[in-house]
Amino acid sequence: MRPHFPDFCGCEVCREDALVYTLNRIPARYVSSTTGSAVTEVTLEKEQSRAAIEVSMMDGLRKISLAPRCGRTRPAKQS
Ligand SMILES: [Zn+2]
Repeated sequence: MRPHFPDFCGCEVCREDALVYTLNRIPARYVSSTTGSAVTEVTLEKEQSRAAIEVSMMDGLRKISLAPRCGRTRPAKQS
C-alpha cells in the first residue's frame, strides 16, 4: 500500500507504528497451535477480513504520514 501514501516516511519507526496501529484496531484472531507457535485464523483470501485490515492500515498510514514519530518533516509544498 506504500505507493498510495507518498508522504509515508517508511523508516523502521514509522513502519512499526503503522503495524502497531493496525494490529491494535483489528480483532485479535490468534490461536495457539500444538507446536507452541501462534497462528492466525485470519484467511487473507476472505475478502471481508482483508478489507477490514486494509482500512485500518490505510488509516494508520495516513495518520503516521501526518505526524511521523521519527521526526521526519514533510516536504514543504511549493507555492
Ligand atoms: Zn519515519
